[in-house]
Amino acid sequence: MLPYGRQSIDESDIAAVAAVLRGDWLTTGPAVDAFEREIAAVAGCEEPAVTVTSGTAALHTAYAATGVGPGDEVITTPLTFFATATCAMWQGATIVFADVCEDTGNLDPVAVEAAVTDRTKVVAGVDYAGHPIDAPALSKVAHAAGAVLLEDAAHSIAGSLDGVPVGSLADVTTFSFFPTKNLTTAEGGAVVSHSAEILGAARDFKSIGYTRDRAKWCSQEDEGVWYYEVHSLGLNYRLPDVLAALGSNQLTRIAKFKKRRQEVTDRYNQGLADIPELVLPAHRPGADPMWHLYPLRIVDGRRRELFDHLRANAVGVQVNYIPVHHQPIFAELGWRKGQFPIAEAYSAQEISLPMFPSLTDDDIDRVIDLVRSFVRA
Ligand SMILES: *Cc1c(COP(=O)(O)O)cnc(C)c1O
Repeated sequence: MLPYGRQSIDESDIAAVAAVLRGDWLTTGPAVDAFEREIAAVAGCEEPAVTVTSGTAALHTAYAATGVGPGDEVITTPLTFFATATCAMWQGATIVFADVCEDTGNLDPVAVEAAVTDRTKVVAGVDYAGHPIDAPALSKVAHAAGAVLLEDAAHSIAGSLDGVPVGSLADVTTFSFFPTKNLTTAEGGAVVSHSAEILGAARDFKSIGYTRDRAKWCSQEDEGVWYYEVHSLGLNYRLPDVLAALGSNQLTRIAKFKKRRQEVTDRYNQGLADIPELVLPAHRPGADPMWHLYPLRIVDGRRRELFDHLRANAVGVQVNYIPVHHQPIFAELGWRKGQFPIAEAYSAQEISLPMFPSLTDDDIDRVIDLVRSFVRA
């Protein structure tokens, strides 16, 4: 079965991990420091990233670091991996969904504007498939409401909008380094921001709530070197050195990964153009996406049949995503099918075709032929 996504691991990745295993640090050590600086550089940020154990942990950390709590509302998209929403619920927030743009599947600033209240604390957009959100418009709406813009960039590290790198578009940005994503640490994630306050809170949160900054300690006595203070709740979300070393080595090939993902996208686009039953991924002017998915839409009502046809021919397609508000956990809270027609239609038509750097042109052409012959039949 051709997978829909797959990691790219080479001998240099294996050597980088082995070198850490032979050294003195397994967990937080020099490889984490280096990886945090490198991620910040890709994201256009001065201060090091805060690495964590997953994209989910990154979302939880980011919500905690922006001070999300009970009584706050977080506006997000239904067209995402559900953790974008549920991680805010861990902090006690109420989720408010808003619909997406028909072309990109990204959170629609107009829909967000209609959903803001005086309780809105965070607007959380997702760079669906790797195409950046309309951050200027979403920031404007969020900031006017006194809220922050969070960008779930699990799909889009190394992308940009109008020349501004993903990581510098929103107030706080999260990444995932899961194997199917654009680079991997097996499990892993990171939070980046231009706000020292958000980064400091994120670092405390992912380090079980240790307050490391002496200036913030309650005690200004000459305490022993064993001394530390805990001022807030946190969790152990530390990414180990072993995995950070893999991430750093992967980053040396990020431009290659991006180029190949663009080539795969271009080849699908050419091979599937001019078929009225198909809608190809949109690419807005000014956006330089890091394509994580190839989200094909089939608009003749035969998504299920095409999906099953591709799977029967050993093509491991996926659906990204089941609308989050359709999940029972949200139905219990009163969300109903039909409330977000654009996201729901997108989801009902979508099939993610195989997309990863080591996909061959022959693989791509076989998928294109299977789709074309199905639609024509
Ligand atoms: C993968 C993903 C996550 C979660 O990342 P993990 O590393 O799997 O925890 C969050 N949001 C989106 C949009 C994702 O695709």
